[in-house]
Amino acid sequence: MSQGLLMAAYLVATIMFIQGLAGLSKPETAKGGNLYGIVGMVIAVIATLIHAQLEGFTLITLTMMLGTGIGLYLAMKVEMTEMPQMVAVLNGLGGLAAVFIGFSSAITEENALATKLSEFVPAVDQTIHSVEVVLGVIIGAVTFSGSAVAAGKLHALIPSQALSMKGRHWANLALLVLAVLPGVVYVQQHSLFALVLVTLFALGFGTFLVLGIGGADMPVVVSMLNAYSGLAAAATGFTLDNNLLIITGAMVGSSGAILSYLMCKAMNRSFVSVILGGFGNEGSTHSGADVEGEYTESSGEAVAQLLKQASSVIITPGYGMAVAQAQHAVHSLMTELSQRKIKVRFGIHPVAGRLPGHMNVLLAEAKVPYDIVEEMEDINDDFSDTDAVLVIGANDTVNPAAAEDPSSPISGMPVLKVWNAKNVIVFKRSMATGYAGVQNPLFFKENTSMLFGDARDSVESIVKQL
Ligand code: NDP
Repeated sequence: MSQGLLMAAYLVATIMFIQGLAGLSKPETAKGGNLYGIVGMVIAVIATLIHAQLEGFTLITLTMMLGTGIGLYLAMKVEMTEMPQMVAVLNGLGGLAAVFIGFSSAITEENALATKLSEFVPAVDQTIHSVEVVLGVIIGAVTFSGSAVAAGKLHALIPSQALSMKGRHWANLALLVLAVLPGVVYVQQHSLFALVLVTLFALGFGTFLVLGIGGADMPVVVSMLNAYSGLAAAATGFTLDNNLLIITGAMVGSSGAILSYLMCKAMNRSFVSVILGGFGNEGSTHSGADVEGEYTESSGEAVAQLLKQASSVIITPGYGMAVAQAQHAVHSLMTELSQRKIKVRFGIHPVAGRLPGHMNVLLAEAKVPYDIVEEMEDINDDFSDTDAVLVIGANDTVNPAAAEDPSSPISGMPVLKVWNAKNVIVFKRSMATGYAGVQNPLFFKENTSMLFGDARDSVESIVKQL
């Protein structure tokens, strides 16, 4: 394939990626956006393979088929609630690929030096290339180990609470400096051993960066690692001199950074602090798991009676609704209440569930009309005029400690102010804490009743009573 044709294919792929990103900005167009991305990637891969006229074409095709098979199997098997882990793993693999490409390029460079082939390459170009290799390896290794820890935390293999260690930031800074120093040696001497040291210290830096971040901040971490994986891809694009990889990496990096920024704003966190891993449990003086008090237990029948007398109801769903797959039952409840002329709306926290837009996707799947699904900032002032709030499987996102207790690990995070309503019913199975591991004082408030059980069973039983 000629260079001109390759550039034309890359241009088409780039347009597809831009269309894909635009499509992903709204739930209604997200499926189309994904399709654009897939078509763009297929064009890019085929054009690259044909252009390169690679010697190991058969081996590469077989490897790609194996990778595609594993990817397809995992993507079809993954539960919706496990999507963040999957995204973290995919980000991590992008980082690992950047590390491998960096090493492959370094070995090629070493061979070129040994055979004196590099004498034909200007010294300044060689230095720039070596810097690109070091950058790709550092960002890739940080992305890989950070993503592995994030996936472990999301999969509950590692405790979700922030690792509290005195001098954590200094230790992180030291690891970063220790990763950069052998990088300088590599640029000067092309020593593979120096590049191995860069990798090891960068892996350590990524690990401790994410270990120090608390559960409630994981959504920001995942989107931040997504941005890092884009930067790693862009650095790899420079190493391989591949324009499309640079463009794609820059798009992933910038859109990931914009998403991280928006999430930081929604979570009331400092963007710079997030990028440096300097947030999480900071400022908290206790774990938040030890709040105690008396709580009131309710029954499906009592809740149905309460709802019959209500004129306005707000439903605030959370991760538990996804676990219980209660969205269709919730839709039936909404229909039942609407038929009784009760005003029903949904209040959605930006990080409810385990992935951005999780609740919106579930409610859309159950055909809940978009116009009664409201964002947190639009509905937060309306709770005081509401007769009943149904907290269905939500916990951290409705925790008053975030607003009222400066010593809480989730202090400062904006939450749905459900406690201002006349009555609050919390649907969950036990008194267990939410993802952040912080107990919820909402459960012990006078106007709150606990309805224990699987959210779907509880909602279905209320619909029957109505
Ligand atoms: P939480 O994870 O805080 O709490 C969910 C609650 O659901 C639990 O307390 C659990 O209590 C209950 N639950 C679980 N299964 C069921 C069931 N079958 N029936 C009824 N209840 C059930 O949920 P939120 O949505 O309020 O908050 C999301 C948290 O996840 C935040 O801390 C957020 O930062 C974090 N996060 C969000 C991501 C995102 O992108 N949205 C990504 C990663 C993390 P019990 O066990 O007693 O039933």
